[in-house]
Parts: sequence; structure tokens; C-alpha cells
Amino acid sequence: REQDVKILLLENVNQAGRDILHGQGYQVEALKSSLPEDQLIEKIKDVHVIGIRSKTKLTSRVLAAAKNLIVIGCFCIGTNQVDLQYAASHGICVFNSPFSNSRSVAELVIGEIISLARQLGDRSNEMHQGIWNKVSTKCWEVRGKTLGIIGYGHIGSQLSVLAESMGMDVIYYDVVNLMGMGNARQVPTLDQLLATADFVTCHVPELPETMDLISTHQLETMKQGSYLINASRGSVVDIPALIGAMRTGKIAGAALDVYPAEPAGNGDYFNNNLNSWAEDLRGLKNLILTPHIGGSTEEAQSAIGVEVAEALVRYVNEGVTVGAVNMPEVALRSLTMDEPNHARVIFIHQNVPGVLRRVNEILGDHNVDKQMSDSRRDVAYLMADISNVREVEVAQLYRELESLKERIITRILY
Ligand code: NAD
Repeated sequence: REQDVKILLLENVNQAGRDILHGQGYQVEALKSSLPEDQLIEKIKDVHVIGIRSKTKLTSRVLAAAKNLIVIGCFCIGTNQVDLQYAASHGICVFNSPFSNSRSVAELVIGEIISLARQLGDRSNEMHQGIWNKVSTKCWEVRGKTLGIIGYGHIGSQLSVLAESMGMDVIYYDVVNLMGMGNARQVPTLDQLLATADFVTCHVPELPETMDLISTHQLETMKQGSYLINASRGSVVDIPALIGAMRTGKIAGAALDVYPAEPAGNGDYFNNNLNSWAEDLRGLKNLILTPHIGGSTEEAQSAIGVEVAEALVRYVNEGVTVGAVNMPEVALRSLTMDEPNHARVIFIHQNVPGVLRRVNEILGDHNVDKQMSDSRRDVAYLMADISNVREVEVAQLYRELESLKERIITRILY
């Protein structure tokens, strides 16, 4: 029953997310901050659901105490704060919200394109120092200029639409063949994009292949006086190479929102920065430096709250794992809870041969309307909707499934 579901929310989870969980009738306890490990271990013991952001570390030690936990909601993008493998092997599903801030990042980049073209950062800094410096040399409109987008995913494609509406021509390079939005065209090679674009912007994931994706050769391939933007990951642009290209004037301006080794909290960054390039970077003209704020808007926070809370509700009420980061993705059409004698069986088990045969022997006395199963590494997830099952038989089914030695978690929703 909904009112038996206990949820602990830490780190001031967004109100929009909390409202969705309250609306379900669950018991929700929401705390403003994170908890020290020992207190967390005490608190997590009897909850079914925990919602966290980036500061709460759900280590194997903490999760080992969480005997009733079935699902973790990370109300943020990253999931490194959770021991995903341990969670999966104990049948605990983990959700996050990777794409809720795509629009915010795309809008920031639009702002940066115009700011770089008009040297806004420099003019503003000068005025703050009392200097009137009215110039038009090498200041441009963006209309009719070419934007080159590297990585045409959630952010890249959103940006493509916004840039075209300002009259820019858009080209993109991606390792996957993708249909362009509007009039945007995919180009076959990165070099072709670099040689054609007036503005180059990176929107690729952090991968071994994207490490220093933009380095000396790529900067040399770019047009004279072009601009570079990186709001993806700090590893994607080779910063010393960029400094070199900006000093020669090859690159007329750049905007960086992400850096290698970013600090955990707000405060002094560059003054304590161990990287030898930090000082050189700060001395460059027409370089916009921002502290990883691409996705930091009120709207994105609220969208994260809604997306993660809805995923938690779908998982608790229907066992749907679509969007999970550590479990196979399994869904069946919405559960018809109102129909009499229907039940949904969820059986999370070790991914070894022979389990499905034994499960189906147990389910076999009932009518299996629909069934789906999938595996991810060592863990498999089976969902079956059965009819002709009376309430008294549910307990028996549960016991039989729980007795299988490969079982991780059994849930029966009816
Ligand atoms: P996404 O997964 O939707 O899209 C990434 C695209 O890059 C995909 O289309 C993929 O095929 C493509 N790609 C992968 N490897 C490539 C390669 N070697 N060359 C060319 N294309 C390649 O991701 P997204 O949500 O658009 O995010 C893009 C980046 O932005 C990520 O690095 C993410 O971490 C970062 N991000 C930053 C902020 C911020 O605050 N600055 C916020 C959100 C996301």
C-alpha cells in the first residue's frame, strides 16, 4: 500500500519532486542536508526509497544496512556517489536525470556565441575598471555565420534549433548518423567541421576517445579568427593548446564552462590551482570563464525533481526500470491494478542459466498475460503480468520465488 512506502529525501530535494512523491500518499521525510555516514546507516535501515543529490555517498557499507531499500533516486546528473554495482547486485535500482538541463546549457552557449562575437566580457571588464573603450573592429553579428556542433545529442540538437533561429548556418559532426533539425547538415569528418565553422562548440560525453578531442592539430585546422566553446567536459579541450592558439590570434575568443579537476565546492579555484596553465588562461582576452554553470538554472532543478520523482513512482508502483543506470531496462504496459485477480511479478535474479525455466514452472499454474526479461552484466530482471491469481495465492507465489537460490529481490504488485 502507498502509505506503507517510506521515503527519505536528503540534500533539499527540489519541491516539485517532493510534491509528486507526497501526492502518491507515501511517507516522505525530507531533510535539508546530507547525513554523516553513521547517521545515514541508522536512517537508511527501514526506508524503501532514498533520494539524494551529489553529496551523499551511498557506499557498499551504507547500502549493506539498507535492508528494505528497493530504489535510489539521484536528483542530479552524476551517479558516482553511489556504488552502482553493489546496488545492482542487491536488486537496488538507481535513477538519475541526465537530460533535464539540456535546454539550460544550450541557452548558455547561445549567450556565449553573441558575447564572444561582440567581445562582451572584455568590454564589461573594462567598464568595471572605469575604461570607456568603444570598438567595432573584429566585432561581428552572428547572422549568416556558421556554427559547428561537435556531438549532436540532447544539448547539441537543441542548440542547433536556437542557433538557426538567429540566422546561423549549422553543421554538426557526430560518431552516429543523425537527422539534422531544421536545415542543419551533418559533416562526415571533424576536420571538415573545424575548417568550415566560425564558431565551434563541443557537446560530447567524457570518453577515452573524446580526451583532448580539441588539441593542437584541431585548433590549427580551425578558421583564422574563429571561436571555441566548451561546456561539455574539461577533458575534451587541451587547455595549453588553446592558450597557444589564442595567443597567436588563430582563435579570436573562447568560452570554457568546464575544466580538468574541478573543485568540490565554491571558493578559491584558480589561486590554488596546481595546473601550470591557470595563470596564462586568466591573462587572455575575449575568454569567458564560468564555473560549470551550464545546467544551473531554477528550471533545470525543477525538471530534475519531476523526472526523478516520476521514475521513482513508476518503479515503486509498477516496477518499470526504463532510464535506470544500473539495471536492465524493462517495462510492460501500465499495470491494470483495478482488474480482479491480476498481479505483476517482479523477480530480480542472478544472470545464470536455468533461472527462467524454474520461474516459469512456478508461474505456470497461472495465466501469464505478458512477460519481459532482460539482463545487464550479472543481474537479470523479469516482469510478468499474470491473471487468474487469487489474493491467497500471492503469498504462496512469493514464497516459492523467494526460495530460488538465484533470487535477489522478489516483488509482487497486485
Ligand atoms: P548526449 O549523450 O545526449 O549526446 C552526446 C553526443 O555526442 C551523442 O550524439 C554521441 O553520439 C556524440 N559523440 C560521442 N562520442 C563522440 C565523438 N568522439 N565525436 C563526436 N560525437 C560523439 O549528451 P548531452 O546531454 O548532449 O551532453 C553532452 C555533454 O554535455 C556531456 O559531456 C555532458 O556531461 C555535458 N553537460 C554539461 C553541462 C554543464 O553544466 N556544462 C550540463 C549537462 C551536460
